[in-house]
Formats: sequence, C-alpha cells, structure tokens
Amino acid sequence: MLNLIYYIETYGCQMNLYDSAAVRTLLNQAGCRETEDPEQAQLMVINSCAVRGHAEERVLGRIGELKSWKKGKPGRLMVLMGCVGQENGESLLERYSQLDLVLGTEQYRQIVAHLESLLKTGKRTAITGLEKAGPDLSIIPRFEKQVGAFLAVMRGCDNFCSYCIVPYVRGREYSRTSSDLLGEIKSLAERGIKEITLVGQNVNSYLSCGTDFPGLLAQAADVPGIVRIRFITSHPKDCGIKLLETMAGNQKICRHLHLPLQSGSDRVLAMMNRKYTLGQYREIVSTARKLMPDLVLTSDLIAGFPGESEDDFQRTLDAIQNIRFDSAFTYKYSIRPGTKAAQMPDQLGDEVGQDRLARMISLQQKISLESNLADIGKTLAVLVEKAVPKRGQMMGRSPGNKPVAFDCVSGVSPGDTVKVRVNKATQSTLTGSML
Ligand code: SAH
Ligand code: SF4
Repeated sequence: MLNLIYYIETYGCQMNLYDSAAVRTLLNQAGCRETEDPEQAQLMVINSCAVRGHAEERVLGRIGELKSWKKGKPGRLMVLMGCVGQENGESLLERYSQLDLVLGTEQYRQIVAHLESLLKTGKRTAITGLEKAGPDLSIIPRFEKQVGAFLAVMRGCDNFCSYCIVPYVRGREYSRTSSDLLGEIKSLAERGIKEITLVGQNVNSYLSCGTDFPGLLAQAADVPGIVRIRFITSHPKDCGIKLLETMAGNQKICRHLHLPLQSGSDRVLAMMNRKYTLGQYREIVSTARKLMPDLVLTSDLIAGFPGESEDDFQRTLDAIQNIRFDSAFTYKYSIRPGTKAAQMPDQLGDEVGQDRLARMISLQQKISLESNLADIGKTLAVLVEKAVPKRGQMMGRSPGNKPVAFDCVSGVSPGDTVKVRVNKATQSTLTGSML
C-alpha cells in the first residue's frame, strides 16, 4: 500500500483526462487519497501534452515552477506522465532535479508498482516502453462529482499525419475489447454517470472480435442508466455511412460529429497525408446533414502548414465559409520533432502562421455566433452538469455539445435532463429558460 496524499494536474486531450481518471482509480486502490490543495499533497502527478510546441512548453514551465513545491517539504514525490514524458524520457530527469519518475503513455497502468519501487530504492527513473504489457487491464476510471465520463476505446494511432507527434508518443493503434468496455460502461452507469464519451484518435477504425465502431456505439447506448453517448475523434477517411446511420437511428447517440478537416486545399491535405480530398469530406457532411438535420458539426483546422500558399489558405477559408462548422478548434502549425512535416523545406515562419490563424479565427467566430444565434427560439434537451451559484444559473450541454446556461430551478440537479428554450446566444454559449 502506498497511502499517499496526491494531487493530479492534467493537460491536453480527452485521452489524457481518461488516463488521469484511471490513475486516480489505481492510486485510490493503493490506499492513496486525492487532495485539491497541492500544499497538502505528498505526491504530485502531472499528465502532459506534447501535441503542439506551446503545450509542451507550458508543461515544462509548470515543472520548473514546481521546484519550490518539491522543496517545500521533505519526502515529496513528483511524477510526470503522458506525451511529454514519452517524448523526452530520461533527459527530463537530468534537466529537472525535482522529477522523481517519468512515465510514458502506456505505463500509467503500472504507476503503483513504479512508485513502490521508487520508494524502496530511491532511484529516479524514466520508463517509456510503449509495448502493451500483458492483457489490457479493465480499470473503472474515476470521474468524481461528474455527470459524464471519458472512456478510451482504443489507444495509439497508425495514421501518421505528417505534422503530428501522436503516433510517435502514443505508439501503434489497438482496440480494447468490447466486453471490457461494456463492463466498464455498466460500472460507470451504476455509479451515476449519465453520459459516456468514447475516446480514440480515430474511433472509426475501432475493431475488436468482429465488433466495429457503430456496433460498439449501439451496444453502449443500450446500457441501462446511460442517457447519452458521444465519441471523439472521427477521421474523415474512415467515416462511413454505417456510422452516420447508426447515429441517426439512435436518439441516445448525440447529434454531434467532430470531423477534423485540417485544410481546405487538396494539395495541402495530400502533404498532410490525410488521405481524403475536400470533395470527399463535403460528401460525408452532406450525407450526415441529410440523415440528421439537427447535427452539430465541429472541426480542427491548421493554418500555416509548410508550403501552404496564400491560395491554399484561401481554400481553407472558403471551406470554412461553405461548410459552416458550428465551431472549430483552430491551430497555427507547430513544428514537431521527428515528424515528416518537420523536414519539409518550406516552413513558413511565425508571422505568416500568426496572420493566417487570426484570419481563420475571425471567420470561424462569426460563423459560430451565427450558428448559435440560429438556435434562439429552439427548445433543446439539456443534460445538466453543474450549478454556478454566483450567477444563479445552471450549466449543461445540448445534444450537439453546445454549452447552455439557464436560471436555477429548485429540484433540478446535475444529471437531470431538462428542456430549455433558448433566448440568448453568444459565440460560445446559449442561454435560455427551462420549460
Ligand atoms: N486524432 C485526432 C486529433 C489529434 S490532435 C484527429 O486526427 O483528429 C488534435 C488536433 O491538433 C489535430 O486535429 C490537429 O488539428 C492539431 N494538431 C496536431 N498536430 C499539430 C501540429 N503539429 N501543429 C498544429 N496543430 C496540430
Ligand atoms: Fe495525429 Fe493524424 Fe493520428 Fe489524429 S489521426 S492523432 S492528427 S496522426
């Protein structure tokens, strides 16, 4: 038993949120207890993100800051897990004397054993093997006081988009068995979780003993107590009609499709190794919208990829204008060591990237606002997530994943689904009254 008081800080994507939740379960099983105050903690766990240079610098900056935390009391332990740990391994121990343990992305299952051996030997180590050690453990992740939970249905990525570090730091793709996953969803439902988000880098390539992703979605939606199923992310190259029909045919599967386009130029898409054209992407969107007129479509977009001309970029702006994403994450291309794009000759530099990103953001913000304004007058089913007492409001999400605020009503609690008539909208939030 470890019996430590721990504090955990999570950066990055939903996969990291899932991994942190799994680590909570493992630490609690080992007699540890979580605190929300770092000063009380004996163990600090940082779960890191390396997808863009900026994210990585932020994590490294935070580790730098935590030197004083480590020195604050003798015997304090600090662990770095996640993608920055996988990418940099051993070198982090040399650079940061405050780090005791660096764990790669597939090592979180072994965190207790690694901590026990650290306590026994006092030896600082970096463990970054990506190979799957034995059978996949079924860990019921802990999402305390939350209405929704994330569940990793697959891990790793084999797509090697030329800009992306994920296949290097998360390793080869594999799917977890549907029987494990359904068992975990049942346990989460029994603990009061209402919404499950199935997470993977490309959920459409999920396959386990004959169960494909649409099959898994349908089975997950059937678990008693689960009110909503979401999923993220779909790669357009594998987003087939079966997925769209399964969504359309099951009201528990939320009408939200996150379908990263990345660029509106076929030339850039080919250089990115995305394996679809803008035309193919638009066909998926048109089928999806035909099947689900109330679909909320969101995307990821990159500005300033190496060799992107002004004409290429204009095609991305045109695509944003024509497709009309309800919202999108917009990124400036960030050079990632070891990727194909990092070796491409025509790196554009910060100024061009910054300028294009700003233009992309301003166009998308206008469209996001228009999408939200178009919801005024509609009645949406809102799954309540929390009360915000300061504002006298409750917050929840629509089936399309839009945040919705409404005035507190007594008797309504997180986890309830209520009907809200929208009467106000900003670019990021809808506000309305409960019916
Ligand atoms: N597997 C998911 C998302 C992975 S990372 C997918 O394929 O959609 C999330 C987003 O970060 C990507 O969609 C991409 O838009 C962005 N991204 C990844 N690497 C990047 C880089 N080097 N520079 C800028 N944005 C990047
Ligand atoms: Fe990165 Fe592409 Fe894999 Fe997404 S699909 S994680 S962008 S390599």
